[in-house]
Amino acid sequence: MSVTRESPDVTRESPDWVRISYASALALRLVSGRFRHSLSFGGINVLTTYEQTCLSDCGYCGLARSRPVAGESERSFIRVQWPLLATDELCERLARYEERLTRLCISMVTHGRAFADTLELTRRLHASVRTPLSVLIAPPLVGEARLQALHDAGTDMIGIGLDAVTEALFFALRGDVPHGSLRWDRYWETIDAARRVFGPWRVNCHTLVGIGETDAELVQCFETLLACQVYAYLFCFNPEPDSRMAAQPGPSQRRWRRIQLVKFLLEERGLPREALRFDDDGGIAAIQAPLALIDEVIADGYAFMTGGCPAAAGTPGCTRPMGSWRAAETPRDFPWRPDSAELAQIRVELELDGLIQPGAWPRRDPALCAPPVAGRAADTTGGS
Ligand code: SF4
Repeated sequence: MSVTRESPDVTRESPDWVRISYASALALRLVSGRFRHSLSFGGINVLTTYEQTCLSDCGYCGLARSRPVAGESERSFIRVQWPLLATDELCERLARYEERLTRLCISMVTHGRAFADTLELTRRLHASVRTPLSVLIAPPLVGEARLQALHDAGTDMIGIGLDAVTEALFFALRGDVPHGSLRWDRYWETIDAARRVFGPWRVNCHTLVGIGETDAELVQCFETLLACQVYAYLFCFNPEPDSRMAAQPGPSQRRWRRIQLVKFLLEERGLPREALRFDDDGGIAAIQAPLALIDEVIADGYAFMTGGCPAAAGTPGCTRPMGSWRAAETPRDFPWRPDSAELAQIRVELELDGLIQPGAWPRRDPALCAPPVAGRAADTTGGS
């Protein structure tokens, strides 16, 4: 069997039906095709699905309620199609390919039935395979008791799609919109509740680069999450056709690479906020750090890989190929470790001349750093 051809006469909704990312359909041999770089891909992304789609209306999202599309089968989410699949068929495929799976994720949309259906899907997927499972929750629908229910059903990490990193931006793009009802403070209450239920480094926040925030605001958000022992995962804005932000270009490659570099330095190399200097527009103007540190971080390449929930061994588990860029485009985040040619290109894109101010930095307490993903090179550069 393959993914289902959609019929306008038949309603196929969660929990008995789901959508999976195109990369997941490739990995589970539901569609034919190959990944670039002989990518070994095992992160399976599952999306709850309803005839009415998502009841929220975020300006940048392909699932937004007011986005005009011919039908649900035409909808894309982060610019790729999400094929429809029976949940029983998904469970059978997961069991068949369990050895190569690294992470499962169920994404909720904002819909009245989404929590109950996500809980049911969590139980069904968890009963099928031992692969670690994340749930990307819709905060308006999930309080502490529901988080506990997801935990007890087999969820080991919680994701929260904050996306906009300031309250003003969040309100402009997600609250003050045609069908907007999302609230910034509710998102942060949910982050706190998830941190209480799931513990340190078991919660993550998706942060989107290029929707109107400054570099300084991104760094402030990374710092806040780091202090809570909550991961920040980076996503690169890539305009979704027909969304309200379809005409807005994504961030420059230079800005995106610099954000990747700075986030990694803050989280995994103990660089303090004081080592960064911003220009009048809040853009990163200088990084005070030893050149050896910068060279080491660029050479090992992990700073530029996709940030996502880990596999059971602690290695990268959710790598979302095609999440922030299409196969024909220059990679934004790499689902594989960048090779030497890609590292050379990254170095060019960073435009390091004038950015790095060599020097020691007052290193952050290691207890306040994020735990590195397994397999990353050890930090050999020291720090004062
Ligand atoms: S990083 Fe991947 S697995 Fe983790 S919550 Fe986000 S989409 Fe899900």
